[in-house]
Amino acid sequence: MPYPAFHLSFFIFCVSLVGIFAIAGSGFRREMTLKDAKHLGLLFFVGSVGSVFPDVPAVWNYFLNGTLQHTRIGSVPTHSLLFGIVAFILAFLLGYIFYRNVSKASSIGIFAEAAFLSHLLLDDIADGGLTYLYPVYNEPLSIFSVMNVKLSGVDFFYYNFACFVSVFFIFCVMFMALLALKDLGFGFRYEPVE
Ligand SMILES: [Zn+2]
Repeated sequence: MPYPAFHLSFFIFCVSLVGIFAIAGSGFRREMTLKDAKHLGLLFFVGSVGSVFPDVPAVWNYFLNGTLQHTRIGSVPTHSLLFGIVAFILAFLLGYIFYRNVSKASSIGIFAEAAFLSHLLLDDIADGGLTYLYPVYNEPLSIFSVMNVKLSGVDFFYYNFACFVSVFFIFCVMFMALLALKDLGFGFRYEPVE
């Protein structure tokens, strides 16, 4: 299991790279105001909490039971679709309280969801076997274990499909963060080269 600091720094520095890039550029040009600082603070908070949210049970298990069991609340797995929806709803509500705007609140929810999924991505690579689809499907699945198939040992189409699934998952997480950040003031645009 990757440590919380790893989940957090992976999401902020890798998945949210466009945000870091834009903040650095604006900061250097001194375009930041106090209002921007609150906006950025909210994004940082939502991204941070979202990226460690699936491991939330570790907190009370540590204090109540002296263990670091971090994947379940009772019989309910936290690295799952169900908790992904909870993360989205909580972030959406927080975003709505902050902006009073459904579109902005949705982007905050999507940003939190990207953070949540980036956690599952790392856990799957490190340990494999997460109940991604709980409560729809309650068996462990591992997207990244399929990357390790030997080229000569399997069907060519299976091999390419397996690669596509792994890459598409990473693409989805990064694209969700990018879409949310674009709606929240961070955007790239093509500028024709002279
Ligand atoms: Zn985890």
